[in-house]
Amino acid sequence: MRGTILHSPGDIRSETLPDPAILAPTDAIIETSATCVCGSDLWPYRGINKFSEPWAIGHEYVGIVREVGAEVTTVKPGQFVIGSFFASDNTCPHCRAGYQSGCEQLTPVTGCQAQAIRIPLADGTLVPTPDTPTDDMLPDLLALSDVMGTGWYAARAAGVAPGHTTVVVGDGAVGLSAVLAARELGAERIIALSRHADRQAIAREFGATDIVAERGAEAVERVRELTHGVGADSIAECVGTDESMTTAIDSARQGGGVGFVGVPHGVKLSIGTLFRTHVRLQGGGAPVRDYLPALISRVYDGDFHPGRVFDLTLPLADVAAAYRAMDERRAIKVLLVP
Ligand SMILES: [Zn+2]
Repeated sequence: MRGTILHSPGDIRSETLPDPAILAPTDAIIETSATCVCGSDLWPYRGINKFSEPWAIGHEYVGIVREVGAEVTTVKPGQFVIGSFFASDNTCPHCRAGYQSGCEQLTPVTGCQAQAIRIPLADGTLVPTPDTPTDDMLPDLLALSDVMGTGWYAARAAGVAPGHTTVVVGDGAVGLSAVLAARELGAERIIALSRHADRQAIAREFGATDIVAERGAEAVERVRELTHGVGADSIAECVGTDESMTTAIDSARQGGGVGFVGVPHGVKLSIGTLFRTHVRLQGGGAPVRDYLPALISRVYDGDFHPGRVFDLTLPLADVAAAYRAMDERRAIKVLLVP
């Protein structure tokens, strides 16, 4: 089968790899219907996240179950399924509390930029759709596998509630998805921080009412102006840098909430600031598995199109071009067709 190997920073190749096989009785093998490149794939691609040997990359997928291990009971061959980038048992105390991304058996899913994928803990990880979706639904469903689920968690962790003024820091696919999540959760005013016209347009389409093009302290000043000096009720932080986290916290009103889903790179927190502002923080890898059933229903109900974040579609064989396009910011997110 065709798969993708990241050999060293900047050296990503589409290659012929062995077909995946069932290794544990809880595994399933999926034939990929669509996959994509994540902003977080760019960290190792750019050499910022170190790795010692070539690895099969990619963690977003939708597809058809081809084979299941002896102990798998909730999905069966022929079903169209979506799963998170974290495999989880969905039965341990953390999973039952809604934190499948903190599962006792947590297993990262990788090797998904490929024609077939082995998914561990299939019963806990995979969620079947009501039927086999049409091709035009694939982008919306694929987005649930990571970016939309992560954006949803950012908004939930921020405490977005009806009537809120919500700020979204970050205009990548996750940030844009957080705008959509804030809208769905009832935010009245959604201020998106974005400097790129194409991303601003999608943010508006997803429900942003205001765009702030400034960054850092200037962005905070603009948010203060837009909120009559008060600050926002809820903030979704979707970047992971020290500047973006500071912007998020400083944009909050007293007792506001910050949901942070950008993987932290060099973030330093001031406990004194948190004490003075009563700001609440919750972050981490998103428990996408918890949201999948409800998000799948929203896609099937229509008028919910998280797949709009895909602005380029390429054949899987052109994966290197997909990474270049995202690295050079010519694309927000690239969908790959196996
Ligand atoms: Zn668990």
